[in-house]
Amino acid sequence: MGRMMDQPLLISSIIRFAARHYGGSEIVSRRVEGDMHRYTVRECEARARRVANVLRAQGIALGERVGTLAWNGYRHLELYYGVSGAGAVLHTINPRLHPEQIAYIVNHADDQLLFFDLTFLPLVAAIAPLCPTVKAFVLMSDRAHMPSDGSMPNLLCYEDLLAAAAEDYEWPELDERAAASLCYTSGTTGNPKGALYSHRSTVLHAYASAMPNALNVAGRDVVLPVVPMFHVNAWGLPYSVLLSGAKLVLPGAALDGKSLYDLFEAEGVTFSAGVPTVWLGLVNYALQNRLTFSTFRRTVIGGAACPPALMDTLIDHFGIEVIHAWGMTEMSPLGTTCGLLARHRDLPVAGQRAVLRKQGHAIFGVDMKIVDDAGNELPWDGLTFGHLLVKGPWIISRYFRDEGGDVLQDGWFPTGDVATIDADGYMQITDRSKDVIKSGGEWIGSIDLENIAMAHPAVLQAACIGVRHPKWDERPVLVVVRRPEAEVTREELLRFFDGKVAKFWMPDDVLFVESLPTGATGKIQKNRLREQFRDYRLPGACQK
Ligand code: AMP
Repeated sequence: MGRMMDQPLLISSIIRFAARHYGGSEIVSRRVEGDMHRYTVRECEARARRVANVLRAQGIALGERVGTLAWNGYRHLELYYGVSGAGAVLHTINPRLHPEQIAYIVNHADDQLLFFDLTFLPLVAAIAPLCPTVKAFVLMSDRAHMPSDGSMPNLLCYEDLLAAAAEDYEWPELDERAAASLCYTSGTTGNPKGALYSHRSTVLHAYASAMPNALNVAGRDVVLPVVPMFHVNAWGLPYSVLLSGAKLVLPGAALDGKSLYDLFEAEGVTFSAGVPTVWLGLVNYALQNRLTFSTFRRTVIGGAACPPALMDTLIDHFGIEVIHAWGMTEMSPLGTTCGLLARHRDLPVAGQRAVLRKQGHAIFGVDMKIVDDAGNELPWDGLTFGHLLVKGPWIISRYFRDEGGDVLQDGWFPTGDVATIDADGYMQITDRSKDVIKSGGEWIGSIDLENIAMAHPAVLQAACIGVRHPKWDERPVLVVVRRPEAEVTREELLRFFDGKVAKFWMPDDVLFVESLPTGATGKIQKNRLREQFRDYRLPGACQK
């Protein structure tokens, strides 16, 4: 047997370590009340201990769920550590879900308390009668911002609770396999399902995601997670940033291009993370106003494929390194990140860019493979598409409350994504399996077609869906939102694909729309598009 100390991997160990070794590191938040708030990690830890005492006073037992409806801010961070650290389970809820879905998951999770930001007062007032398990609702603000109309009888004030609670608290030595936090999938079809993370999975994910090949989070960084703390724990940044001693900047509810730009500049942000749509907003704002970034050097983009045109603008125009990342709620979320290897150093820029567009290498801890419909493993040749399966210590083995039963296939989790893996181990997502277009028995990758369309200067957004075809079963059609005041015709856009894809991949038509439907995590909802164009008939489809 080895002779090393046996210490459980606990979320409280991250904040305890950070307060002791990087206690002076700053946490800056834009409050939903409108002003800025700043304090240190040391103060954050002291308040997280008060949160733990509040839970004790409210009678919250080990393993019970505590819900949050909140933006990225210091009080949410205190709950991250106070709730999980005390042995209860932090259930972060996506406020962009439909109110009925929110009530469904509050009940499904059996949340005992619900903490929420001021912005969500009307939402919480509306769903409160539908949430009988919640003993008390806590408004994450001070007495001055409490509503005076008495419309919510069991409403408590966060700052009052913390002021009344003792600061003295010993973080308990829990079982590292105990549940620590809960996040529901966005549930595009059917009800959302819960991914229940453990202390161990969270700490291992935090270690792995901070590594240079992954997000490369270091003490010299100033990190602004745009990705919300209600979406898969903001990709683990609330943990990895604190254990690295970096400065943390939390943007609250103001996620438009101007608010973000101002905060990046005011706080000297060096590193950020978010979904492509956020970067489109920020980049467009900076371009329109001829602005440059003084300190921003690196960003991780994931949650949906990063359009190559966006990557090129960030790198070539702004000098910002782009790390393309892939993952999912069920994976805590990080699975792969993309970077160049030493042997790519001498490649021409176009060759390097082709590598960086992929979703990249598995980070240590994650294993992956692609399989055919019968489950046979497929070759890593960069060409063969297959269902992507993963395994690792921060990937779910079952959903919360065993929803959906045994989800693993021979110990591997089926991601629902379709991908290629090349001989160097770079994975590239070609589609969600339910979005794949099958034409004459061959798969067509819709993401590739969307990326080409979005490289056209007149295209703001593009989504590619399969529509029914009498001969080929399905053919790809592009649904496009033009940039304001830009002109492009169907024929011009189709010509733009010439020589860029195999002939049978060429979209059969282009449909222009005002906007594309997006879901609670900002992703385009192709199932709604398919529904919208269900009765659409391709021009000349009968002759083919
Ligand atoms: P969620 O659980 O809501 O984070 O969604 C996870 C899904 O988002 C994955 O299964 C992928 O389909 C998609 N996704 C995440 N990151 C990427 C990426 N970099 N490129 C393409 N799709 C992605």
